Amino acid sequence: MTRYSGKGVFGAVAIGKISVFTRSDVKVKRVKADDASAELMRLKEAEKKAREQLGRIYEKALKEVGEANAQIFDIHIMMIEDEDYNEAITEMICGQGVNAEYAVAVTGDNFAEMFSSMDDSYMQARAADVKDISNRIIACLSDKGAVSVNIDDKVIICADDLAPSETVSLDKDKVLAFVTAYGSSNSHTAILARTMNIPAIIGVGAEFLSQIKNGDIAVADGYSGELIIDPDAETIAAAEKRQAEDAEKKQLLRKLKGKENITLDGKRVNIYANIESADSIGSVILNDAGGIGLFRSEFLYLESTDYPTEEKQFKVYKRVLESMGGKRVIIRTLDVGADKQVPYFKLEREENPALGLRAVRLCLDRPDIFRTQLRALYRASVYGSLGIMFPMITNLWELEECIELCGKVKAELDADGIAYSDNIELGIMIETPAAALISDKLAPLVDFFSIGTNDLTQYTLACDRQNPRTERFCDTHHEAVMKLIEMTVENAHKHGVWAGICGELAADTSLTEKFLRMGIDELSVSPPFVLKVRDAVRNIDLNK
Ligand code: PEP
Ligand code: MG
Repeated sequence: MTRYSGKGVFGAVAIGKISVFTRSDVKVKRVKADDASAELMRLKEAEKKAREQLGRIYEKALKEVGEANAQIFDIHIMMIEDEDYNEAITEMICGQGVNAEYAVAVTGDNFAEMFSSMDDSYMQARAADVKDISNRIIACLSDKGAVSVNIDDKVIICADDLAPSETVSLDKDKVLAFVTAYGSSNSHTAILARTMNIPAIIGVGAEFLSQIKNGDIAVADGYSGELIIDPDAETIAAAEKRQAEDAEKKQLLRKLKGKENITLDGKRVNIYANIESADSIGSVILNDAGGIGLFRSEFLYLESTDYPTEEKQFKVYKRVLESMGGKRVIIRTLDVGADKQVPYFKLEREENPALGLRAVRLCLDRPDIFRTQLRALYRASVYGSLGIMFPMITNLWELEECIELCGKVKAELDADGIAYSDNIELGIMIETPAAALISDKLAPLVDFFSIGTNDLTQYTLACDRQNPRTERFCDTHHEAVMKLIEMTVENAHKHGVWAGICGELAADTSLTEKFLRMGIDELSVSPPFVLKVRDAVRNIDLNK
């Protein structure tokens, strides 16, 4: 039994035979080509063919992994048409008198290297995309046709790396898992694997490929990131147990995917997902959430060793918005302080941090930090349907200041000629009793409320949510909390504002009926709970 470890990018387990993925590499030679215009014609023809292939791959991906994930192949088509890329190839053909294959290969390598050397991990991952399109054009120039793979049996594909088009071209029904030597969790291949529901392990290291062979029996554990070759009976039994548990969950998924969130008597409700990182988008899509009801943006700050720049934040927000393909994405502004401490903020020690300078209080106290985030959010807003949400509001004036700052940011962007959407929704978290009690005053200033029951419960019941010893006193179904939720929904609706719940209580299906009776418009839960809540909603009859 030999174990290799990498990083699991999709949690599932596969048991089966290994198939080592080898591509029929087209060896590119530098050949003197005197007739530059003939080479340019060949290039044009090959690019046309490559675009047609990608169009077909796009259609396949659209059916199998959804629009948001299929978009990468649209981007590949755009990359083939990219002016800089084409200019570089043309210059080599005309200036150096070389064959088109060589010019494409060198340009592809140069562009890939440029992407790899960028700081941003998302841009680094684009190196694989530019290599992918270059290989495709070269294959078309050499008349090798589409890059595709034929597999006869169900196998665990092991490769050095897989290009997105290679991943999606594989016959999904025959792939048990992907295991790659390289790759990043940001790569589209990783995203596709997540969306295709296939266990995937990346970054196992180059050596493993020389030590495995076709037909080896293996367990690929996408949870732990382990590839186990020649597993013993105990390992196989544990893997089978995990598979049985997953199958049970999948059954629920199959039954409910694509179905509406509608009660037996016809009331609809939005079921969205809560995420902490852009990496969870795959899970949001897999679980068929209607949008993102809470993106806890503070994790961007918690994972950094210094303040994340406007540019860095912009790229993350843009990615989330684009991946959701126009579905609503609510991004909550920075909520640090209390249990979420960030050393580089150098916050003063507080006696009662949960009652201290946290969330929006900190943002209003340090408007430079707030402004950077708002600029990134407004800039990203053109890439989807954005809602901006302010946490921990207790006073009307806090919300007014937030809105004023948004106005200033918009004026700055206008002055710089930077576009932003005019359809951004502004909303607040209702997570203090004060906010619920004055929700009739807050509602006219916003588009939505999202009730944060985790904090609302701790502040209403005076029970520290971090302290296990107070748990007995912290009844999450407490009448006082329910009354505040009901009051909030009522006041929202009076002013034409929608109201949701994004605290953990939203996933408590023993309360779903109660919430629907209160008129709640949205429930935002961790991705794995979306279908559980959908199931509950579909079994409720409000007429009874
Ligand atoms: C809440 O308080 O309910 C909430 C959703 O916010 P967080 O859990 O991030 O404090
Ligand atoms: Mg909270």
